[in-house]
Amino acid sequence: LLYHSKKLLPATVDSASEAPISKPSESFNDRVGLIRGDITKLGVDAIVNAANTQLRGGGGVDGAIHRAAGPELLNECRALRGCETGSAKITNGYRLPCKKVIHTAGPIYNLHSKEESARDLAGCYTTSLQLAVDNDCKSIVFSCVSTGVYGYPSHDAASVAVGTVRKFLEGEQGDKLEKVAFCTFVQKDVDAYNYWLPRFFPAV
Ligand code: ADP
Repeated sequence: LLYHSKKLLPATVDSASEAPISKPSESFNDRVGLIRGDITKLGVDAIVNAANTQLRGGGGVDGAIHRAAGPELLNECRALRGCETGSAKITNGYRLPCKKVIHTAGPIYNLHSKEESARDLAGCYTTSLQLAVDNDCKSIVFSCVSTGVYGYPSHDAASVAVGTVRKFLEGEQGDKLEKVAFCTFVQKDVDAYNYWLPRFFPAV
């Protein structure tokens, strides 16, 4: 884990824009983390695949997940008959070390307005978290949805991702999740999460 907010020093508040966005809470901080590496290696309850609306596999993290899971995953995905942008569907993990794969279709960044993209991306995170809860998954790790070929700027995407997770943890079903982590792969995403995590999960 690169990030564990308990170990962070309190955020320095120089200007309004540097101020924490959410209230410090030990209970929330204990449950979020940042990882850098290959999401297909993680033995958690659920990993979130940055898929597409067809759910037929693809490049990037989607390709890596399908390769590691084996052909049974594609079979189950086919039967799901696609996924709307901003929504998610769940399958088994097959040869992956995780129990479940949550496939979410992120927005293609330049297709619609900035606001619409942000709404869809938030939908990906909320739907995935809800699916995890509904399927008794206590630990969930997200890939950086839409920040690859879909072109969502990493800084803005991480703000939506971390803010949406914080909101869910504060909500009625938030207590059902024990661990939520973000799996980054490239430096721009690591930087983006290192910026936003201490603002939504400030040190207590
Ligand atoms: P999208 O089409 O939603 O943009 P991509 O797969 O192109 O999806 O990229 C999503 C993110 O997944 C990118 O930040 C990319 O660096 C990352 N990624 C690629 N391969 C892996 C992997 N094996 N594990 C974790 N993240 C990965």
